[in-house]
Amino acid sequence: MIFDTHAHYDDSKFEEDQTETIERQFAGGVSGILNCATCLENIPETLKLCKKYERMYAALGIHPSDCYRYKSLDESLSELERIISDNDVRALGEIGLDYHYDFSPKEKQLPYFEEQLKLAEKLGLPAVIHDREAHGDVFDRLRSFKGTAIIHSCSESAETVRQLCRMGHYVSFSGSVTFKNANSVREAARVVPDELLLVETDSPYMAPIPHRGSRNESLNIRYIVDVLAETRGDSPEHIERITEENAKRLFKI
Ligand SMILES: [Zn+2]
Repeated sequence: MIFDTHAHYDDSKFEEDQTETIERQFAGGVSGILNCATCLENIPETLKLCKKYERMYAALGIHPSDCYRYKSLDESLSELERIISDNDVRALGEIGLDYHYDFSPKEKQLPYFEEQLKLAEKLGLPAVIHDREAHGDVFDRLRSFKGTAIIHSCSESAETVRQLCRMGHYVSFSGSVTFKNANSVREAARVVPDELLLVETDSPYMAPIPHRGSRNESLNIRYIVDVLAETRGDSPEHIERITEENAKRLFKI
């Protein structure tokens, strides 16, 4: 069974056929999905899906590209904390830093990331980390973080991954591990210990080869599992089993 640790089924790309798409995932061998909200505005849709589907779980947070929406850090984060304490939430995220897009300036992203890491510590929730072209700053912040992080759609080097794993953080691989030019991602996938390995879609984005460029869904994780198995010298069944066990332990399922 597959556990998808990062998806956005609330995305408008599922507007037309959301119900049948989600039902197809669970019917086809997906045992759990962590749906990640990215701002206060799309939290209600994530919570609605998680109430509707027993095996869909919520991660709530403010994404680096979305923090431009808010005037006050204190107000938006106390609203986030209030919603989390009123609902069944299994992780804080996605949060992090994105220096590829400049939707929100770096000076705005940093305090949102730092304060949400503190919130994850306070609430005892794992933090789902988005890191795009911000490896140094993300790594620095995680060094002083006392909770558990999940590096989502890993793009860090094998050496950084080794250090993050030594700190007890989990590393999640998306469709990018299947891309032809992604040797460095596959190298990183080789150094993650069994007990810290996770898989994800980042659906509707990041579809793996052979579906690259199309709308992604959790069942496509089988292609990621195959590449991880080959890269790590394990069987696909082993990768499926350990990644599912890890997700269930991490999200208290
Ligand atoms: Zn995402």
